[in-house]
Amino acid sequence: MLQLDVAIIGAGGAGLYAALSAIKKNPSLRVGVITKVFPTRSHTGAAQGGVNAALSNVAEDSPEKHTYDTIKGSDFLADQDAVELMCHIAPKIIREMEHMGLPFSRLENGKIAQRPFGGASFPRTCYAADKTGHVMLQTLYEQCIRRNVKFFNEWFVTALVHDEQKVCGLIAIDMKSGKIEVIRAKAVILATGGHARIYWRRTSNALGCTGDGTAIALKAGVPLKDMEFVQFHPTGLRRTGILVTEGARGEGGYLINKDGERFMKRYAPEKMELAPRDLVSRAIETEIAEGRGFRDNEGNEFVYLDLRHLGKKKIMERLPQIRELAIDFEGIDPIEEPIPIRPTAHYCMGGVDTDIDGKTIIDGLFAAGECACVSVHGANRLGGNSLLDIVVFGKITGELASEYATSSQLSEFPISALKDERQKIESLFEKDGKEKLADLRNKLSDILTYGAGIFREEGRLKEALDKVKEIKERAQHLKVEDLSYTFNTNLQQTLEFLNMVELAEVTVMTALERRESRGAHYRVDYPKRDDKNFLKHSIVTLENGEYKLSYKPVNITKYKPEERKY
Ligand SMILES: Cc1cc2nc3c(=O)[nH]c(=O)nc-3n(C[C@H](O)[C@H](O)[C@H](O)COP(=O)(O)OP(=O)(O)OC[C@H]3O[C@@H](n4cnc5c(N)ncnc54)[C@H](O)[C@@H]3O)c2cc1C
Repeated sequence: MLQLDVAIIGAGGAGLYAALSAIKKNPSLRVGVITKVFPTRSHTGAAQGGVNAALSNVAEDSPEKHTYDTIKGSDFLADQDAVELMCHIAPKIIREMEHMGLPFSRLENGKIAQRPFGGASFPRTCYAADKTGHVMLQTLYEQCIRRNVKFFNEWFVTALVHDEQKVCGLIAIDMKSGKIEVIRAKAVILATGGHARIYWRRTSNALGCTGDGTAIALKAGVPLKDMEFVQFHPTGLRRTGILVTEGARGEGGYLINKDGERFMKRYAPEKMELAPRDLVSRAIETEIAEGRGFRDNEGNEFVYLDLRHLGKKKIMERLPQIRELAIDFEGIDPIEEPIPIRPTAHYCMGGVDTDIDGKTIIDGLFAAGECACVSVHGANRLGGNSLLDIVVFGKITGELASEYATSSQLSEFPISALKDERQKIESLFEKDGKEKLADLRNKLSDILTYGAGIFREEGRLKEALDKVKEIKERAQHLKVEDLSYTFNTNLQQTLEFLNMVELAEVTVMTALERRESRGAHYRVDYPKRDDKNFLKHSIVTLENGEYKLSYKPVNITKYKPEERKY
Protein backbone atom coordinates (compact mmCIF):
# COMPACT_ATOMS: atom_id res chain seq x y z
CA MET A 1 0.00 0.00 0.00
CA LEU A 2 1.20 3.50 -0.79
CA GLN A 3 1.49 5.91 2.12
CA LEU A 4 1.31 9.69 2.31
CA ASP A 5 1.07 12.18 5.13
CA VAL A 6 -1.28 14.49 3.25
CA ALA A 7 -3.23 13.20 0.24
CA ILE A 8 -5.00 15.82 -1.86
CA ILE A 9 -7.61 14.63 -4.33
CA GLY A 10 -7.70 17.14 -7.17
CA ALA A 11 -5.15 19.32 -8.93
CA GLY A 12 -7.24 22.40 -9.72
CA GLY A 13 -6.57 25.71 -8.03
CA ALA A 14 -7.84 24.44 -4.67
CA GLY A 15 -5.81 21.20 -4.71
CA LEU A 16 -2.58 22.81 -5.90
CA TYR A 17 -2.79 25.65 -3.40
CA ALA A 18 -3.48 23.12 -0.66
CA ALA A 19 -0.50 20.98 -1.69
CA LEU A 20 1.81 23.95 -1.83
CA SER A 21 0.67 25.25 1.56
CA ALA A 22 0.92 21.81 3.17
CA ILE A 23 4.49 21.25 2.04
CA LYS A 24 5.56 24.82 2.84
CA LYS A 25 4.26 24.38 6.37
CA ASN A 26 6.24 21.18 6.89
CA PRO A 27 8.69 20.33 4.09
CA SER A 28 9.47 16.93 5.63
CA LEU A 29 5.94 15.63 4.97
CA ARG A 30 5.03 13.35 2.09
CA VAL A 31 2.42 15.44 0.26
CA GLY A 32 0.75 13.91 -2.78
CA VAL A 33 -1.87 15.06 -5.28
CA ILE A 34 -4.10 12.48 -6.94
CA THR A 35 -5.85 13.67 -10.08
CA LYS A 36 -7.90 12.11 -12.84
CA VAL A 37 -6.62 14.59 -15.43
CA PHE A 38 -3.14 16.02 -15.87
CA PRO A 39 -2.92 18.91 -13.34
CA THR A 40 -2.83 21.77 -15.83
CA ARG A 41 -5.89 20.33 -17.59
CA SER A 42 -7.99 20.75 -14.44
CA HIS A 43 -11.10 22.79 -14.86
CA THR A 44 -9.65 25.86 -13.13
CA GLY A 45 -7.75 26.35 -16.37
CA ALA A 46 -11.00 27.35 -18.07
CA ALA A 47 -11.66 30.27 -15.71
CA GLN A 48 -11.63 33.39 -17.75
CA GLY A 49 -12.66 36.64 -16.11
CA GLY A 50 -10.63 36.95 -12.92
CA VAL A 51 -10.31 36.79 -9.16
CA ASN A 52 -11.68 39.29 -6.64
CA ALA A 53 -9.74 41.23 -4.02
CA ALA A 54 -10.26 44.72 -2.63
CA LEU A 55 -6.89 46.09 -3.76
CA SER A 56 -8.25 49.60 -4.48
CA ASN A 57 -6.08 49.84 -7.60
CA VAL A 58 -8.86 51.40 -9.69
CA ALA A 59 -11.26 52.82 -7.08
CA GLU A 60 -11.26 53.13 -3.30
CA ASP A 61 -12.44 49.74 -2.02
CA SER A 62 -12.21 47.69 1.17
CA PRO A 63 -12.51 44.07 2.40
CA GLU A 64 -15.64 45.17 4.31
CA LYS A 65 -17.33 46.29 1.08
CA HIS A 66 -16.23 43.08 -0.60
CA THR A 67 -17.74 41.16 2.34
CA TYR A 68 -21.03 43.04 2.13
CA ASP A 69 -21.35 42.61 -1.67
CA THR A 70 -20.67 38.88 -1.31
CA ILE A 71 -23.24 38.42 1.46
CA LYS A 72 -25.86 40.44 -0.40
CA GLY A 73 -25.04 38.50 -3.60
CA SER A 74 -25.52 35.25 -1.66
CA ASP A 75 -29.05 36.38 -0.78
CA PHE A 76 -27.94 36.28 2.86
CA LEU A 77 -27.40 32.51 2.94
CA ALA A 78 -23.58 32.65 3.12
CA ASP A 79 -21.97 32.21 6.53
CA GLN A 80 -20.85 35.73 7.31
CA ASP A 81 -17.79 34.79 9.38
CA ALA A 82 -16.45 32.71 6.48
CA VAL A 83 -17.08 35.51 3.96
CA GLU A 84 -15.30 38.01 6.22
CA LEU A 85 -12.33 35.67 6.47
CA MET A 86 -12.15 35.14 2.71
CA CYS A 87 -12.47 38.81 1.77
CA HIS A 88 -9.92 39.95 4.32
CA ILE A 89 -7.30 37.41 3.19
CA ALA A 90 -7.95 38.24 -0.48
CA PRO A 91 -5.44 41.11 -0.99
CA LYS A 92 -2.66 39.14 0.73
CA ILE A 93 -3.22 36.00 -1.32
CA ILE A 94 -3.30 37.93 -4.60
CA ARG A 95 0.09 39.42 -3.72
CA GLU A 96 1.34 35.97 -2.71
CA MET A 97 0.42 34.66 -6.17
CA GLU A 98 1.91 37.73 -7.84
CA HIS A 99 5.17 37.00 -6.04
CA MET A 100 5.05 33.41 -7.31
CA GLY A 101 5.05 34.90 -10.79
CA LEU A 102 1.38 34.89 -11.79
CA PRO A 103 1.27 37.31 -14.75
CA PHE A 104 -1.68 39.57 -13.92
CA SER A 105 -2.73 42.23 -16.46
CA ARG A 106 -1.48 45.69 -15.44
CA LEU A 107 -2.67 49.27 -15.29
CA GLU A 108 -0.61 52.03 -16.90
CA ASN A 109 0.98 52.71 -13.49
CA GLY A 110 2.13 49.08 -13.22
CA LYS A 111 -0.37 48.02 -10.56
CA ILE A 112 -2.53 44.91 -11.00
CA ALA A 113 -5.49 45.78 -13.26
CA GLN A 114 -9.04 45.31 -11.92
CA ARG A 115 -12.30 45.14 -13.87
CA PRO A 116 -15.94 45.50 -12.77
CA PHE A 117 -17.91 42.28 -12.26
CA GLY A 118 -21.54 41.48 -11.47
CA GLY A 119 -22.84 42.45 -8.03
CA ALA A 120 -19.64 44.26 -7.06
CA SER A 121 -19.66 47.90 -5.93
CA PHE A 122 -16.25 48.64 -7.46
CA PRO A 123 -13.88 47.26 -10.10
CA ARG A 124 -12.45 44.50 -7.92
CA THR A 125 -11.66 41.62 -10.25
CA CYS A 126 -7.94 41.06 -10.92
CA TYR A 127 -7.32 39.32 -14.22
CA ALA A 128 -4.86 38.06 -16.78
CA ALA A 129 -6.70 39.04 -19.99
CA ASP A 130 -9.47 36.41 -20.19
CA LYS A 131 -7.20 33.49 -19.22
CA THR A 132 -6.92 34.02 -15.48
CA GLY A 133 -7.52 30.40 -14.43
CA HIS A 134 -5.05 29.12 -17.01
CA VAL A 135 -2.17 31.23 -15.70
CA MET A 136 -3.13 30.53 -12.09
CA LEU A 137 -2.95 26.79 -12.68
CA GLN A 138 0.38 27.00 -14.53
CA THR A 139 1.90 29.13 -11.76
CA LEU A 140 0.71 26.88 -8.93
CA TYR A 141 1.75 23.67 -10.69
CA GLU A 142 5.24 25.04 -11.30
CA GLN A 143 5.51 25.93 -7.58
CA CYS A 144 4.37 22.45 -6.52
CA ILE A 145 6.97 20.81 -8.76
CA ARG A 146 9.63 23.11 -7.33
CA ARG A 147 8.75 21.95 -3.81
CA ASN A 148 8.66 18.24 -4.68
CA VAL A 149 4.95 17.60 -4.26
CA LYS A 150 4.31 14.08 -5.54
CA PHE A 151 1.75 13.72 -8.35
CA PHE A 152 -0.42 10.71 -9.18
CA ASN A 153 -1.63 11.86 -12.57
CA GLU A 154 -4.53 10.11 -14.27
CA TRP A 155 -5.52 8.24 -11.14
CA PHE A 156 -9.27 8.04 -10.64
CA VAL A 157 -10.34 8.03 -6.99
CA THR A 158 -13.38 5.84 -6.35
CA ALA A 159 -13.69 5.79 -2.56
CA LEU A 160 -12.76 7.50 0.65
CA VAL A 161 -12.02 5.31 3.64
CA HIS A 162 -12.40 6.21 7.32
CA ASP A 163 -13.06 4.38 10.58
CA GLU A 164 -16.12 6.51 11.54
CA GLN A 165 -13.89 8.89 13.43
CA LYS A 166 -10.65 9.36 11.51
CA VAL A 167 -9.73 9.30 7.84
CA CYS A 168 -7.63 6.30 6.75
CA GLY A 169 -7.02 7.03 3.06
CA LEU A 170 -8.52 6.41 -0.33
CA ILE A 171 -8.94 3.89 -3.14
CA ALA A 172 -8.13 4.81 -6.73
CA ILE A 173 -7.71 3.25 -10.17
CA ASP A 174 -4.40 3.99 -11.88
CA MET A 175 -5.89 4.62 -15.31
CA LYS A 176 -2.64 3.78 -17.09
CA SER A 177 -2.49 0.23 -15.74
CA GLY A 178 -6.06 -0.32 -14.59
CA LYS A 179 -4.76 -1.39 -11.18
CA ILE A 180 -6.88 -0.63 -8.14
CA GLU A 181 -4.63 0.96 -5.53
CA VAL A 182 -4.88 2.02 -1.90
CA ILE A 183 -3.26 5.20 -0.65
CA ARG A 184 -3.10 5.42 3.13
CA ALA A 185 -2.91 8.96 4.47
CA LYS A 186 -3.01 10.78 7.78
CA ALA A 187 -4.96 13.66 6.26
CA VAL A 188 -7.02 13.85 3.07
CA ILE A 189 -8.20 17.01 1.32
CA LEU A 190 -11.04 16.74 -1.18
CA ALA A 191 -10.54 19.30 -3.96
CA THR A 192 -12.40 17.60 -6.78
CA GLY A 193 -14.32 20.56 -8.22
CA GLY A 194 -18.00 21.00 -9.04
CA HIS A 195 -20.73 18.85 -10.55
CA ALA A 196 -22.58 21.12 -13.00
CA ARG A 197 -22.07 18.36 -15.60
CA ILE A 198 -25.23 16.79 -14.17
CA TYR A 199 -26.85 19.27 -16.62
CA TRP A 200 -24.87 17.39 -19.27
CA ARG A 201 -26.31 18.90 -22.44
CA ARG A 202 -25.94 22.57 -21.60
CA THR A 203 -23.15 23.57 -19.27
CA SER A 204 -19.99 25.65 -19.30
CA ASN A 205 -18.20 22.91 -17.36
CA ALA A 206 -15.57 20.50 -18.65
CA LEU A 207 -16.51 16.84 -19.17
CA GLY A 208 -14.75 15.93 -15.92
CA CYS A 209 -16.87 18.16 -13.65
CA THR A 210 -18.91 15.20 -12.46
CA GLY A 211 -18.71 15.78 -8.71
CA ASP A 212 -16.84 12.57 -7.90
CA GLY A 213 -15.41 13.86 -4.64
CA THR A 214 -18.77 15.19 -3.48
CA ALA A 215 -20.44 11.87 -4.27
CA ILE A 216 -17.78 9.70 -2.64
CA ALA A 217 -17.95 11.86 0.47
CA LEU A 218 -21.74 11.44 0.55
CA LYS A 219 -21.41 7.67 0.11
CA ALA A 220 -18.86 7.64 2.94
CA GLY A 221 -21.40 9.23 5.29
CA VAL A 222 -20.12 12.82 5.09
CA PRO A 223 -22.97 15.38 4.89
CA LEU A 224 -23.52 17.68 1.91
CA LYS A 225 -24.77 21.24 2.29
CA ASP A 226 -27.03 23.53 0.18
CA MET A 227 -27.14 21.21 -2.82
CA GLU A 228 -30.27 22.87 -4.28
CA PHE A 229 -28.22 25.92 -5.28
CA VAL A 230 -26.85 25.64 -8.81
CA GLN A 231 -25.75 28.73 -10.69
CA PHE A 232 -26.76 29.29 -14.30
CA HIS A 233 -24.38 31.73 -15.93
CA PRO A 234 -26.21 34.23 -18.15
CA THR A 235 -23.90 34.09 -21.13
CA GLY A 236 -23.25 30.66 -22.61
CA LEU A 237 -22.79 30.41 -26.38
CA ARG A 238 -26.07 29.63 -28.13
CA ARG A 239 -25.32 26.12 -29.40
CA THR A 240 -22.82 24.70 -26.94
CA GLY A 241 -23.26 26.51 -23.62
CA ILE A 242 -19.53 27.33 -23.67
CA LEU A 243 -18.89 30.30 -21.43
CA VAL A 244 -18.55 33.93 -22.42
CA THR A 245 -17.01 35.49 -19.33
CA GLU A 246 -18.81 38.06 -17.21
CA GLY A 247 -15.70 40.10 -17.96
CA ALA A 248 -17.29 40.79 -21.36
CA ARG A 249 -20.08 42.69 -19.59
CA GLY A 250 -17.51 44.02 -17.12
CA GLU A 251 -15.71 45.62 -20.04
CA GLY A 252 -19.00 47.22 -21.10
CA GLY A 253 -20.89 44.61 -23.19
CA TYR A 254 -24.68 45.05 -23.65
CA LEU A 255 -27.47 42.48 -23.56
CA ILE A 256 -29.95 43.12 -26.37
CA ASN A 257 -33.34 41.59 -27.21
CA LYS A 258 -35.00 41.31 -30.58
CA ASP A 259 -36.41 44.82 -30.27
CA GLY A 260 -32.86 46.15 -30.01
CA GLU A 261 -33.49 47.04 -26.37
CA ARG A 262 -31.03 46.80 -23.43
CA PHE A 263 -33.65 44.87 -21.50
CA MET A 264 -31.78 44.76 -18.19
CA LYS A 265 -33.20 48.22 -17.46
CA ARG A 266 -36.47 46.44 -16.57
CA TYR A 267 -34.83 44.03 -14.11
CA ALA A 268 -31.90 45.89 -12.53
CA PRO A 269 -32.12 49.58 -13.48
CA GLU A 270 -29.02 50.56 -11.58
CA LYS A 271 -26.59 47.69 -12.21
CA MET A 272 -28.01 46.78 -15.65
CA GLU A 273 -25.84 44.04 -17.24
CA LEU A 274 -23.70 43.89 -14.11
CA ALA A 275 -26.44 42.66 -11.81
CA PRO A 276 -25.69 39.27 -10.18
CA ARG A 277 -25.92 36.16 -12.31
CA ASP A 278 -29.14 34.71 -10.89
CA LEU A 279 -30.99 37.91 -11.77
CA VAL A 280 -29.51 38.29 -15.26
CA SER A 281 -30.15 34.64 -16.14
CA ARG A 282 -33.81 34.92 -15.13
CA ALA A 283 -34.09 38.18 -17.09
CA ILE A 284 -32.78 36.52 -20.27
CA GLU A 285 -35.11 33.53 -19.89
CA THR A 286 -38.05 35.88 -19.25
CA GLU A 287 -37.27 37.86 -22.41
CA ILE A 288 -37.20 34.62 -24.40
CA ALA A 289 -40.40 33.26 -22.78
CA GLU A 290 -42.25 36.52 -23.46
CA GLY A 291 -41.31 36.51 -27.13
CA ARG A 292 -38.57 39.12 -27.11
CA GLY A 293 -35.75 36.66 -27.83
CA PHE A 294 -34.45 35.39 -31.17
CA ARG A 295 -34.96 31.95 -32.70
CA ASP A 296 -32.67 30.47 -35.35
CA ASN A 297 -33.31 27.84 -38.04
CA GLU A 298 -32.15 25.05 -35.72
CA GLY A 299 -34.72 26.08 -33.09
CA ASN A 300 -32.19 27.62 -30.68
CA GLU A 301 -33.55 30.55 -28.70
CA PHE A 302 -31.22 33.31 -27.51
CA VAL A 303 -30.52 37.01 -26.98
CA TYR A 304 -27.46 38.98 -28.03
CA LEU A 305 -24.37 40.01 -26.14
CA ASP A 306 -23.11 43.00 -28.06
CA LEU A 307 -19.43 43.96 -27.74
CA ARG A 308 -19.04 45.88 -30.98
CA HIS A 309 -19.00 49.32 -29.36
CA LEU A 310 -15.93 48.29 -27.29
CA GLY A 311 -13.84 48.42 -30.45
CA LYS A 312 -11.28 46.06 -31.92
CA LYS A 313 -8.36 47.16 -29.71
CA LYS A 314 -10.13 46.53 -26.42
CA ILE A 315 -11.61 43.22 -27.56
CA MET A 316 -8.23 41.98 -28.81
CA GLU A 317 -6.45 43.12 -25.66
CA ARG A 318 -8.93 42.17 -22.92
CA LEU A 319 -11.13 39.45 -24.43
CA PRO A 320 -9.01 37.59 -26.99
CA GLN A 321 -10.17 34.12 -25.93
CA ILE A 322 -13.83 35.12 -26.08
CA ARG A 323 -13.31 36.30 -29.64
CA GLU A 324 -11.67 32.99 -30.55
CA LEU A 325 -14.48 30.96 -28.93
CA ALA A 326 -17.17 33.00 -30.71
CA ILE A 327 -15.41 32.53 -34.06
CA ASP A 328 -14.74 28.80 -33.53
CA PHE A 329 -18.10 27.76 -32.09
CA GLU A 330 -20.56 30.29 -33.54
CA GLY A 331 -18.77 31.47 -36.67
CA ILE A 332 -19.15 35.04 -35.41
CA ASP A 333 -16.48 37.68 -34.92
CA PRO A 334 -17.63 39.85 -31.95
CA ILE A 335 -15.75 42.81 -33.39
CA GLU A 336 -18.29 42.85 -36.20
CA GLU A 337 -21.39 41.02 -34.96
CA PRO A 338 -23.20 40.50 -31.64
CA ILE A 339 -22.79 37.09 -29.96
CA PRO A 340 -25.89 34.86 -29.56
CA ILE A 341 -26.06 33.67 -25.95
CA ARG A 342 -28.33 31.95 -23.43
CA PRO A 343 -27.81 30.87 -19.79
CA THR A 344 -25.78 27.71 -19.14
CA ALA A 345 -25.33 25.52 -16.01
CA HIS A 346 -22.14 26.82 -14.50
CA TYR A 347 -21.35 26.47 -10.82
CA CYS A 348 -22.40 24.53 -7.72
CA MET A 349 -22.79 26.59 -4.58
CA GLY A 350 -23.48 23.42 -2.59
CA GLY A 351 -21.02 20.69 -1.72
CA VAL A 352 -19.31 18.86 1.11
CA ASP A 353 -20.33 20.43 4.42
CA THR A 354 -17.33 21.99 6.14
CA ASP A 355 -16.72 24.48 8.90
CA ILE A 356 -14.89 27.77 8.38
CA ASP A 357 -11.56 25.88 8.36
CA GLY A 358 -12.60 23.43 5.67
CA LYS A 359 -12.90 20.59 8.21
CA THR A 360 -15.55 17.89 7.78
CA ILE A 361 -17.13 15.70 10.46
CA ILE A 362 -14.32 13.12 10.00
CA ASP A 363 -11.00 13.92 11.70
CA GLY A 364 -8.25 14.53 9.14
CA LEU A 365 -10.72 14.93 6.25
CA PHE A 366 -10.95 18.41 4.72
CA ALA A 367 -12.65 19.82 1.63
CA ALA A 368 -11.80 22.94 -0.39
CA GLY A 369 -12.81 24.60 -3.64
CA GLU A 370 -15.97 24.04 -5.62
CA CYS A 371 -16.59 20.57 -4.16
CA ALA A 372 -16.85 22.13 -0.69
CA CYS A 373 -19.54 24.27 0.88
CA VAL A 374 -17.91 26.40 3.56
CA SER A 375 -20.25 28.44 2.77
CA VAL A 376 -19.02 31.67 1.21
CA HIS A 377 -21.40 31.85 -1.75
CA GLY A 378 -24.72 31.04 -0.14
CA ALA A 379 -27.54 30.97 -2.67
CA ASN A 380 -25.68 32.78 -5.45
CA ARG A 381 -21.94 33.19 -6.08
CA LEU A 382 -20.55 36.47 -7.35
CA GLY A 383 -18.27 36.26 -10.40
CA GLY A 384 -14.59 36.27 -9.44
CA ASN A 385 -15.27 34.84 -5.99
CA SER A 386 -14.68 31.21 -6.88
CA LEU A 387 -11.06 31.63 -7.90
CA LEU A 388 -10.70 33.49 -4.62
CA ASP A 389 -12.50 30.77 -2.63
CA ILE A 390 -10.30 28.01 -4.09
CA VAL A 391 -7.01 29.71 -3.23
CA VAL A 392 -8.08 30.96 0.21
CA PHE A 393 -9.55 27.66 1.38
CA GLY A 394 -6.89 25.68 -0.50
CA LYS A 395 -4.33 27.53 1.59
CA ILE A 396 -6.23 27.17 4.88
CA THR A 397 -6.93 23.44 4.48
CA GLY A 398 -3.39 22.76 3.23
CA GLU A 399 -1.87 24.36 6.31
CA LEU A 400 -4.28 22.69 8.73
CA ALA A 401 -3.92 19.27 7.11
CA SER A 402 -0.17 19.67 7.35
CA GLU A 403 -0.39 20.47 11.07
CA TYR A 404 -2.79 17.58 11.60
CA ALA A 405 -0.52 15.12 9.77
CA THR A 406 2.53 16.34 11.66
CA SER A 407 0.98 15.45 14.98
CA SER A 408 -0.94 12.27 14.15
CA GLN A 409 -0.34 8.65 13.16
CA LEU A 410 -1.59 6.71 10.15
CA SER A 411 -4.86 4.96 10.97
CA GLU A 412 -5.30 1.27 10.34
CA PHE A 413 -6.65 0.75 6.79
CA PRO A 414 -9.53 -1.75 6.80
CA ILE A 415 -8.57 -4.23 4.10
CA SER A 416 -12.25 -5.18 3.67
CA ALA A 417 -12.80 -1.72 2.17
CA LEU A 418 -10.47 -2.59 -0.70
CA LYS A 419 -12.16 -5.96 -1.23
CA ASP A 420 -15.61 -4.35 -1.33
CA GLU A 421 -14.52 -1.62 -3.71
CA ARG A 422 -12.81 -4.09 -6.04
CA GLN A 423 -15.95 -6.19 -6.10
CA LYS A 424 -18.11 -3.17 -6.84
CA ILE A 425 -15.91 -2.10 -9.74
CA GLU A 426 -15.58 -5.61 -11.16
CA SER A 427 -19.34 -6.14 -11.02
CA LEU A 428 -19.76 -3.33 -13.56
CA PHE A 429 -18.24 -5.61 -16.22
CA GLU A 430 -20.89 -8.23 -15.54
CA LYS A 431 -24.12 -6.22 -15.76
CA ASP A 432 -26.74 -7.11 -18.36
CA GLY A 433 -26.05 -3.97 -20.44
CA LYS A 434 -29.76 -3.27 -21.03
CA GLU A 435 -29.14 0.46 -20.72
CA LYS A 436 -26.75 2.75 -22.58
CA LEU A 437 -24.66 5.33 -20.77
CA ALA A 438 -25.07 8.12 -23.34
CA ASP A 439 -28.88 7.73 -23.30
CA LEU A 440 -29.13 7.87 -19.52
CA ARG A 441 -26.78 10.83 -19.28
CA ASN A 442 -28.82 12.85 -21.77
CA LYS A 443 -32.05 11.81 -20.10
CA LEU A 444 -30.78 12.89 -16.69
CA SER A 445 -29.74 16.24 -18.11
CA ASP A 446 -33.17 16.82 -19.71
CA ILE A 447 -34.98 15.90 -16.49
CA LEU A 448 -32.87 18.34 -14.48
CA THR A 449 -33.05 21.18 -16.99
CA TYR A 450 -36.85 20.95 -17.13
CA GLY A 451 -37.50 20.08 -13.49
CA ALA A 452 -34.68 21.76 -11.58
CA GLY A 453 -33.40 24.47 -13.89
CA ILE A 454 -33.58 28.26 -13.67
CA PHE A 455 -37.31 28.29 -12.83
CA ARG A 456 -38.62 25.58 -10.49
CA GLU A 457 -42.05 24.54 -9.27
CA GLU A 458 -43.50 21.87 -6.94
CA GLY A 459 -45.11 19.63 -9.57
CA ARG A 460 -42.12 19.68 -11.88
CA LEU A 461 -39.72 19.02 -9.01
CA LYS A 462 -41.77 16.05 -7.79
CA GLU A 463 -41.85 14.63 -11.28
CA ALA A 464 -38.09 15.22 -11.62
CA LEU A 465 -37.41 13.40 -8.35
CA ASP A 466 -39.40 10.35 -9.47
CA LYS A 467 -37.66 10.36 -12.82
CA VAL A 468 -34.17 10.72 -11.35
CA LYS A 469 -34.89 7.72 -9.10
CA GLU A 470 -35.99 5.81 -12.16
CA ILE A 471 -32.72 6.70 -13.92
CA LYS A 472 -30.85 5.52 -10.83
CA GLU A 473 -32.63 2.18 -11.10
CA ARG A 474 -31.90 1.91 -14.79
CA ALA A 475 -28.24 2.79 -14.16
CA GLN A 476 -27.94 -0.55 -12.33
CA HIS A 477 -28.00 -2.18 -15.79
CA LEU A 478 -25.06 -0.21 -17.18
CA LYS A 479 -22.34 -2.54 -18.30
CA VAL A 480 -18.72 -1.62 -18.95
CA GLU A 481 -18.23 -3.12 -22.40
CA ASP A 482 -14.56 -2.24 -22.78
CA LEU A 483 -12.48 -4.94 -21.12
CA SER A 484 -9.08 -3.30 -21.44
CA TYR A 485 -6.97 -2.33 -18.44
CA THR A 486 -5.23 0.65 -20.05
CA PHE A 487 -7.17 3.91 -19.98
CA ASN A 488 -10.56 2.32 -19.72
CA THR A 489 -12.57 5.49 -20.24
CA ASN A 490 -15.76 3.44 -20.51
CA LEU A 491 -15.23 2.36 -16.89
CA GLN A 492 -14.34 5.89 -15.79
CA GLN A 493 -17.40 7.44 -17.44
CA THR A 494 -19.67 4.82 -15.92
CA LEU A 495 -18.30 5.53 -12.45
CA GLU A 496 -18.70 9.26 -13.06
CA PHE A 497 -22.30 8.80 -14.13
CA LEU A 498 -23.08 6.75 -11.05
CA ASN A 499 -21.73 9.66 -9.01
CA MET A 500 -23.72 12.24 -10.96
CA VAL A 501 -27.01 10.45 -10.56
CA GLU A 502 -26.63 10.51 -6.74
CA LEU A 503 -25.91 14.24 -6.77
CA ALA A 504 -28.84 14.84 -9.11
CA GLU A 505 -31.18 13.14 -6.67
CA VAL A 506 -29.92 15.23 -3.76
CA THR A 507 -30.18 18.43 -5.83
CA VAL A 508 -33.81 17.81 -6.72
CA MET A 509 -34.76 16.59 -3.27
CA THR A 510 -33.41 19.71 -1.55
CA ALA A 511 -34.89 22.01 -4.22
CA LEU A 512 -38.31 20.45 -3.69
CA GLU A 513 -38.18 21.01 0.05
CA ARG A 514 -37.01 24.64 -0.13
CA ARG A 515 -40.35 26.34 -0.62
CA GLU A 516 -39.07 29.87 -1.16
CA SER A 517 -37.00 31.76 -3.74
CA ARG A 518 -33.46 32.65 -2.79
CA GLY A 519 -30.56 33.47 -5.12
CA ALA A 520 -30.23 30.89 -7.87
CA HIS A 521 -33.07 28.78 -6.46
CA TYR A 522 -36.21 30.38 -7.92
CA ARG A 523 -39.60 28.81 -7.22
CA VAL A 524 -42.39 30.25 -9.38
CA ASP A 525 -44.86 28.95 -6.78
CA TYR A 526 -42.98 30.63 -3.90
CA PRO A 527 -41.51 33.74 -5.57
CA LYS A 528 -40.45 35.48 -2.34
CA ARG A 529 -37.56 34.85 0.00
CA ASP A 530 -38.83 33.46 3.29
CA ASP A 531 -36.33 34.21 6.06
CA LYS A 532 -38.71 33.06 8.75
CA ASN A 533 -38.74 29.48 7.51
CA PHE A 534 -35.73 29.12 5.25
CA LEU A 535 -32.83 31.25 6.43
CA LYS A 536 -30.94 28.00 6.98
CA HIS A 537 -28.60 25.59 5.23
CA SER A 538 -29.92 22.28 3.97
CA ILE A 539 -27.92 19.23 5.02
CA VAL A 540 -28.19 15.82 3.36
CA THR A 541 -26.71 12.66 4.82
CA LEU A 542 -26.84 9.09 3.65
CA GLU A 543 -28.22 6.92 6.43
CA ASN A 544 -29.01 3.23 5.98
CA GLY A 545 -29.14 3.63 2.24
CA GLU A 546 -31.55 6.63 2.34
CA TYR A 547 -31.00 10.34 2.06
CA LYS A 548 -31.99 12.27 5.19
CA LEU A 549 -32.62 16.00 5.00
CA SER A 550 -32.05 18.35 7.92
CA TYR A 551 -31.15 22.01 8.32
CA LYS A 552 -28.63 24.08 10.21
CA PRO A 553 -28.45 27.80 10.95
CA VAL A 554 -26.62 30.42 8.91
CA ASN A 555 -23.82 32.24 10.77
CA ILE A 556 -24.81 35.87 10.85
CA THR A 557 -22.32 38.38 12.26
CA LYS A 558 -23.19 41.99 11.46
CA TYR A 559 -25.11 42.03 8.17
CA LYS A 560 -28.83 41.84 8.81
CA PRO A 561 -30.75 40.17 5.97
CA GLU A 562 -32.45 42.81 3.83
CA GLU A 563 -34.24 42.92 0.50
CA ARG A 564 -31.83 42.50 -2.39
CA LYS A 565 -32.10 45.32 -4.94
CA TYR A 566 -29.73 46.21 -7.80
C1 LIG B 1 -15.73 28.31 -18.11
C2 LIG B 1 -15.61 28.76 -16.69
C3 LIG B 1 -15.05 29.98 -16.39
C4 LIG B 1 -14.92 30.39 -15.07
N1 LIG B 1 -14.37 31.61 -14.80
C5 LIG B 1 -14.22 32.00 -13.52
C6 LIG B 1 -13.64 33.26 -13.20
O1 LIG B 1 -13.24 34.02 -14.09
N2 LIG B 1 -13.54 33.60 -11.90
C7 LIG B 1 -13.95 32.79 -10.90
O2 LIG B 1 -13.83 33.17 -9.74
N3 LIG B 1 -14.49 31.59 -11.17
C8 LIG B 1 -14.63 31.17 -12.44
N4 LIG B 1 -15.17 29.95 -12.71
C9 LIG B 1 -15.39 29.00 -11.62
C10 LIG B 1 -14.04 28.39 -11.20
O3 LIG B 1 -13.21 28.27 -12.33
C11 LIG B 1 -14.19 27.02 -10.57
O4 LIG B 1 -15.18 27.06 -9.59
C12 LIG B 1 -12.86 26.62 -9.92
O5 LIG B 1 -11.82 26.72 -10.85
C13 LIG B 1 -12.92 25.23 -9.33
O6 LIG B 1 -11.64 24.90 -8.87
P1 LIG B 1 -11.36 23.58 -8.03
O7 LIG B 1 -9.90 23.57 -7.72
O8 LIG B 1 -12.32 23.49 -6.93
O9 LIG B 1 -11.70 22.39 -9.03
P2 LIG B 1 -11.19 22.03 -10.51
O10 LIG B 1 -10.30 23.06 -11.08
O11 LIG B 1 -12.40 21.63 -11.26
O12 LIG B 1 -10.29 20.77 -10.26
C14 LIG B 1 -10.83 19.53 -9.87
C15 LIG B 1 -9.70 18.53 -9.77
O13 LIG B 1 -10.21 17.33 -9.19
C16 LIG B 1 -9.74 16.23 -9.91
N5 LIG B 1 -10.71 15.13 -9.75
C17 LIG B 1 -12.06 15.19 -9.85
N6 LIG B 1 -12.59 13.97 -9.65
C18 LIG B 1 -11.56 13.13 -9.40
C19 LIG B 1 -11.45 11.74 -9.13
N7 LIG B 1 -12.52 10.94 -9.07
N8 LIG B 1 -10.23 11.22 -8.93
C20 LIG B 1 -9.12 11.99 -9.00
N9 LIG B 1 -9.17 13.32 -9.27
C21 LIG B 1 -10.36 13.87 -9.46
C22 LIG B 1 -9.59 16.71 -11.34
O14 LIG B 1 -8.66 15.92 -12.04
C23 LIG B 1 -9.09 18.14 -11.10
O15 LIG B 1 -7.69 18.12 -10.97
C24 LIG B 1 -15.35 29.55 -14.03
C25 LIG B 1 -15.92 28.32 -14.33
C26 LIG B 1 -16.07 27.94 -15.64
C27 LIG B 1 -16.78 26.67 -15.93
